[in-house]
Amino acid sequence: MFFDHASVLISLLLPLAAGSGWVAGRYDHKRQRARKDLPSAYFKGLNFLLNEQADKAIEIFIKVLEVNSETVETHLALGSLFRRRGEVERAIRVHQNIIARPALDRDQRARALLELGQDYLKAGLLDRAENLFLELAEIRIHNGEALRLLMHIYQQERDWEKAISVCRRLGRAGGPGLSDIIAQYYCELAEEAYKANDQELAFEQARRALQSDKSCVRASIVLGQIEAKSGRHKEAIKAWRRVEGQNPVYLGEVAQLLAQSFRALGDEDGLYRFFQEALARHRDISVMLVLADVVERREGVVAAEAFVVSWLRRQPSVRGLNRLIGLHMAQATGDVREDLAILKGIIEKIVEGRRRYLCHHCGFSGQSLHWQCPSCHRWNTVMPSGEDDVV
Ligand SMILES: [Zn+2]
Repeated sequence: MFFDHASVLISLLLPLAAGSGWVAGRYDHKRQRARKDLPSAYFKGLNFLLNEQADKAIEIFIKVLEVNSETVETHLALGSLFRRRGEVERAIRVHQNIIARPALDRDQRARALLELGQDYLKAGLLDRAENLFLELAEIRIHNGEALRLLMHIYQQERDWEKAISVCRRLGRAGGPGLSDIIAQYYCELAEEAYKANDQELAFEQARRALQSDKSCVRASIVLGQIEAKSGRHKEAIKAWRRVEGQNPVYLGEVAQLLAQSFRALGDEDGLYRFFQEALARHRDISVMLVLADVVERREGVVAAEAFVVSWLRRQPSVRGLNRLIGLHMAQATGDVREDLAILKGIIEKIVEGRRRYLCHHCGFSGQSLHWQCPSCHRWNTVMPSGEDDVV
């Protein structure tokens, strides 16, 4: 590890020494005095490195090797090397040293600012990083990179308004279309307002999310929740039904909610019809489980059992089996009922242990749905895993 560190530094510094004129012998009178000291300082620095005194070594290199257009690349490389290794304070010192030199051109200074901003970000100094990236975005050098890093900061701070405005600026600067991510930021704002009981604002933000991305499932889910909370169950059903057209993979997420609103309207027939048709289209286990409840209420336990068994024959699933045992238990008594209860307990443990959701980007899996993957931090990559459908 140490030798690796030293050898990388040496490989960076050797061309620097050559480029500075020490080897080639090309130097002007102005620089002559500074460079005359280079060999001894250079070896002194290496000596510190070999004695594992990296701080002293950096001190020497920064002092002797002036930052100019010939050496700035090496200084930048040295700084980013430190950051990559997690030595953020050293990276900051190297980059601040570059910026302090007046001889740099505009582009070189901007690159050093971009690097320093990333050092601050890694050190958790978000305010300082934000200021540097804002400056870069203002002067329009490396502004795409700076805006992307700003987006990262505002996401961490959960400052969704600023995150939206940065996404829009990125779009105007010719960046990739981020309308699906903007929609997620509006959904965050909608959920905040919903929790704060400001239903009007929540509604407005959820509508903005849909305007930004008409296939935003989360916006439909939130809209339905707002409507249902205000007792407008017809509108809630309309919002949740939209999920099927947006991405049917998420239909299971709204199945129970839909059933509740149909029941709040006293529309058991509508509920039965909708779920029968939806099941014919998607063969979704969550839809089947709601329909099993409906069948049980309309036609009794025996009919519900027959319905679940016919499903399990075609599509074996642990959750379906669990439902079937529940239906058997409803009719059983004494020892049989006790045995079934033990069996149901085991099956429920298996259901709990299953990965219900899976990130299609990084493979993260968990028990709850995250719109932003907690592992790779991408949006819209976590989906129901489908593992429930298999025994
Ligand atoms: Zn992920």
